[in-house]
Amino acid sequence: MKYPAVFIDLAKVRHNARVISNLLKEQGMSLVGVAKGTMCHPGVAESMLDGGARAIGDSRIDNLRRLRESGYRGETILLRAPSPSSCHEAVVYADVSLNSDPVTVRMLGEAALKMGKRHKVILMVDLGDLREGVLAEDAPCVAKEMTDLPGIDLIGIGTNLACYGGVIPTREKMDALLRVKNEIERSIGRPLERVSGGNSANMLMVLSGQMPPGITELRIGESILLGTEAVGRTPIPGCFQDAFVIKAEVIEVLKKPSKPFGEIGQDAFGNVPVFEDMGIRTRAICAIGRQDIDPGSLFPLEKGVRILGASSDHLICDVEEAEPSPRPGSILEFRPGYGSLLRAFTSPFVEKVVI
Ligand SMILES: *Cc1c(COP(=O)(O)O)cnc(C)c1O
Repeated sequence: MKYPAVFIDLAKVRHNARVISNLLKEQGMSLVGVAKGTMCHPGVAESMLDGGARAIGDSRIDNLRRLRESGYRGETILLRAPSPSSCHEAVVYADVSLNSDPVTVRMLGEAALKMGKRHKVILMVDLGDLREGVLAEDAPCVAKEMTDLPGIDLIGIGTNLACYGGVIPTREKMDALLRVKNEIERSIGRPLERVSGGNSANMLMVLSGQMPPGITELRIGESILLGTEAVGRTPIPGCFQDAFVIKAEVIEVLKKPSKPFGEIGQDAFGNVPVFEDMGIRTRAICAIGRQDIDPGSLFPLEKGVRILGASSDHLICDVEEAEPSPRPGSILEFRPGYGSLLRAFTSPFVEKVVI
């Protein structure tokens, strides 16, 4: 066995997808499974589909291409607007894409026509998070412009909150999205099929029955993969939080002072570190680092292990209270948060082990 490694429990991913797809179904919504936290690992995507996801969404065309090449024939949704230089590929590998700029959508339409296809577009509306999307007041006009483009089918609208600005999805935000839908329908003179209401930050609203009728789908990654909602990171009842476990090998265990000695300047990443003096402590170094995980989103599973920090290739843990104390060659286990999951799957140095 090679370390570091991320262990993937596909049965737990499937179970989480089942719990969430049932919750959504009860409230009239379908589930778009988002597998980008795992670079769209084909086993993970398949487990999402087995658990009731209707389609697979990913922000990167390369991930959707690999999914197609693994044999998937269902709907693919590109979650990040394609760049103008990748419109051809976007049309090849995505059935639907989320967009906000008519310049790109025109190019998508041209690429689709060249291939004798049509491309489906969901218009993103920015309700305050200030990442992608047109402002609500501009949406009817932009929607009209998109509907008139050759090769394009405008099938719905969507919004994304809690990703950049940290704006929480609320009933008011969802009602605002539905008002935009009505205005667009008036402007283009036909109904829109789909209203894509958000991501794992919407799960608290789902759990408390706050999602208004009219939202037709949610795009869910984190809640399926990690079993948590994305506003306060609380567990979703009935979901597993340990479908993924990261394991790393210990390469040094020594007693050392807890406060660095000497003059303090910047660390490897340009930060000036601050340390609390806790006296002499037993510390273990694991052979994994910021290239593979984010130390702020990694949680030790063994009692008595505390993460102190990490450089590119070294993860430093306080193991003073660990029973038994680890030795070089011991394997320490961690539950990844979203940041660590993303890096572990992206790093070629981390083995991916399906169990
Ligand atoms: C990543 C992403 C999602 C899924 O987010 P989670 O918090 O993992 O559920 C949904 N929509 C868009 C546009 C995304 O980029």
